Amino acid sequence: MAEEKKSIRKKIMASKEMKQIMADYFYELDSAAKSSNKKVAWCSSVGPAEILRSLGFYVHFPENHGAMLGATRMATDLIPYANAIGYSPEICSYLTSDVGAYLKKITPLSRAYEGIENIPKPDVLVFNTNQCRDVQDWFGWFANEFNAPLIGVYTHRGVKDVAEMHVQSIAAQMQEMVEPLEKISGNTFDMNELKRVLSLSRECSNLWKKVLDTAAATPSPLTFFDGTIHMGPAVVLRGTQQAVDYYKILLAELEERVKNHEGAVDDERFRLYWEGMPIWGRLRDHSELFASQKACVVASTYCNSWIFSAFDDAEPFTSMAKAYTELFIVRSDETKEKYMKKMIDFFKIDGVVYHDAKTCPNNSNSRYGMPQRLEEETGVPSLIINGDLNDLRCLSDEQAKTNVEAFIEQLEEKK
Ligand code: SF4
Repeated sequence: MAEEKKSIRKKIMASKEMKQIMADYFYELDSAAKSSNKKVAWCSSVGPAEILRSLGFYVHFPENHGAMLGATRMATDLIPYANAIGYSPEICSYLTSDVGAYLKKITPLSRAYEGIENIPKPDVLVFNTNQCRDVQDWFGWFANEFNAPLIGVYTHRGVKDVAEMHVQSIAAQMQEMVEPLEKISGNTFDMNELKRVLSLSRECSNLWKKVLDTAAATPSPLTFFDGTIHMGPAVVLRGTQQAVDYYKILLAELEERVKNHEGAVDDERFRLYWEGMPIWGRLRDHSELFASQKACVVASTYCNSWIFSAFDDAEPFTSMAKAYTELFIVRSDETKEKYMKKMIDFFKIDGVVYHDAKTCPNNSNSRYGMPQRLEEETGVPSLIINGDLNDLRCLSDEQAKTNVEAFIEQLEEKK
């Protein structure tokens, strides 16, 4: 068995700036929810945030709150409260922990930000089923609870090639939501404002991609675990100047590391790819576990999900429809496998770790033979970890540790 040594991933200096802009975001959202003339929209993580922002809404992302519940390890104890009102332990544990937190009147926001007592009350809730149906049920429950309107984009799933038919139907749904959103926001839709927001979103996306792509360097200047933290602004602040400014700072730091051949993990020996959701309550443990094996998890599908290359301010609605349909999670296995092969090649991957998340089949790609097919085609070995994004009862820490160590031994033999 490989000898374990304490090895911590290197601290990213830009974290200080990120913490500040995230704090500013949450305080601004909280004060908007408390004011009588500002409006709050809830949006699914890959929902049409740009439309909402262009209409002057302050935007809350329940999945971000769900991830906070996971990362603070509050989620597992809260899930049963949602189960008790009929939401199964088998469905999305973001949904169940978020509903549970609301029922228990607690939020990790209060722990992190003094003075914030609640999640922001929505004036409208907007989702896109491109990722899953759970967001519809999740937002529907809260719409009922807050007596707020619910608006959805109903999208295609399992798409092989994104065709004109897909783009037109999604673009039409996005255009149709403008009129009701104008009424709720009290603002008139302005195409130039949408173009401005979309162009900032595009810039954020481009910079975020460059940040993630620095991991192609050997040694890699960042890990998947850093990515899960530093993706915060790309999720909740896309479409703003703050996110753009932040990623310029982060990128400069990572490029400096690349120039100095400074790896995120000491003596990087193995380069891994993480497929699936993070296990939020175990980020630190997993980061240390892989680092102790001299393994750097350099890239992931998850962090790449906030790259929207198709955004084009010359064609706001069709380009948004395209970008939000081209996402990995929306696509067929065939397309996903092509994408994975590109990633394995680009990031010079030695092994792929699939996280089979019990409550998120949508982001678990190890159930229908994909690891075996890809392994056969690329020769790159894979490991499946059973767990969950938020429900830690679905994870065996001992089993995960043993499996990772055995996997690294397998990679060592292959070197
Ligand atoms: S994609 Fe998975 S984790 Fe995200 S909201 Fe849907 S079921 Fe939950």
